[in-house]
Amino acid sequence: MKACEACSQLSSIRYRIQFDDTKSWVLVCPSCWQKLSHLNPHYRYGGTWKAKK
Ligand SMILES: [Zn+2]
Repeated sequence: MKACEACSQLSSIRYRIQFDDTKSWVLVCPSCWQKLSHLNPHYRYGGTWKAKK
C-alpha cells in the first residue's frame, strides 16, 4: 500500500497522472483520479500502479 499524493489515503491501486500545467507526475488513488481528471484540460494519464502481493 502506498499513499495517494493528493489526499494521503493508502491505496493498493494508484494512477500516474498530470493534472496541472506544471507537467509534474503524481500518483493518486482512484477517487482522486476521478476528481482530478474530470473536465481537466491539463489531465494526462501515465499508467497504473498496483501493489504487489
Ligand atoms: Zn487520493
